[in-house]
Amino acid sequence: MLTSVVEAPRRRDRPAYRNFAVTVARVERLTPTFVNVTFTGDDLADFGTAGLDQRVKVVLPLASNGFASFPDGLDWYTTWRELPGEQRNPFRTYTVRAVRPEQLEVDIVFACHGDVGPASTWAGRAEPGDEIVLIGPDEFGAGRTAGIDWRPGEVDTLLLAGDETATPAICAILESLPADASGAAFLEVPESGDRLEVRAPAGVEVRWLARDGAAGAVEAHTSAEHGSLLAPAVRDWVVRHLADLGVTRAGTDESAAALAAAERDDLPDTPLWDVPDGHSLDGACYAWLAGEASVITGLRRFLVREAGLDRRQVAFMGYWRRGRAELE
Ligand SMILES: Cc1cc2nc3c(=O)[nH]c(=O)nc-3n(C[C@H](O)[C@H](O)[C@H](O)COP(=O)(O)OP(=O)(O)OC[C@H]3O[C@@H](n4cnc5c(N)ncnc54)[C@H](O)[C@@H]3O)c2cc1C
Repeated sequence: MLTSVVEAPRRRDRPAYRNFAVTVARVERLTPTFVNVTFTGDDLADFGTAGLDQRVKVVLPLASNGFASFPDGLDWYTTWRELPGEQRNPFRTYTVRAVRPEQLEVDIVFACHGDVGPASTWAGRAEPGDEIVLIGPDEFGAGRTAGIDWRPGEVDTLLLAGDETATPAICAILESLPADASGAAFLEVPESGDRLEVRAPAGVEVRWLARDGAAGAVEAHTSAEHGSLLAPAVRDWVVRHLADLGVTRAGTDESAAALAAAERDDLPDTPLWDVPDGHSLDGACYAWLAGEASVITGLRRFLVREAGLDRRQVAFMGYWRRGRAELE
């Protein structure tokens, strides 16, 4: 067929990820915490549409010269690292919330946490016309699904849990699930007003946990610590659904021992990240956990050591670390 003859070399020749120069088309303040920024640019016709939790790098302008010193080309990172500090544009990792190639648009939802950190500061002030650079997937590149960590395989029950930084990814994943999917999604957000509209299959329970303790549609709690609602809610759900998940209370099995060994080897600056290949799993449960690193690590430990899930059933991703800027 003509299409495959034309596209095959095109895919091989193009990288999985590359630079896209974009401008802000619209800014929508969705809730007290979440800001949806819609980017546009001619190049976005080729931006990857694989979705789910696909990540991108958001490169931010320097106050002194914008992007004048930001290196072009595939090897931008090596060149960037060799620049003097004041000429290095900061960049941070975000999730593609939506892509509309025909309209040349990409949405990213920023959880603003004040004027702390270049990305949150930028998002809090973003306006139409602002320029940035996205390092994102190329639809016609060799690895259009690179940067996707949602790999559930064929399992019966799905468990998603995360804080506000993982909320865009969880929403995108929920919207992609087949109608007969079953399980639960826990989203811990700063305020009751941060609940977002999201479509999910009827068999997937979606629970918003607001740290501010406000009453209403969102559950009422009082503590303000990240994870203080997420951890007990997930524990409670797992304990109540242990039988459905087909797991036993193990604690000392091979998987828990492997986890303990891996944790011993973790160095302070090692990214807290482990994404098993779920395609080898059948049957029971797949858990996807993302958010503040210590919270997510604790949840994984509970799932593997106490609840008895196989380590390969748990994808965990430290999206950020309390008190530390993202490592560039
Ligand atoms: C794969 C991946 C996907 C992600 N997707 C998204 C996304 O779609 N939306 C999103 O909002 N975030 C997302 N994040 C998280 C985001 O990259 C971090 O929150 C990042 O640190 C924000 O950069 P910054 O410049 O605002 O702060 P930094 O300069 O990195 O950090 C400055 C300080 O702020 C603290 N901090 C960072 N984030 C928060 C927070 N949310 N609340 C409170 N304190 C914080 C740090 O601990 C540090 O002390 C994602 C991260 C990863 C790895």
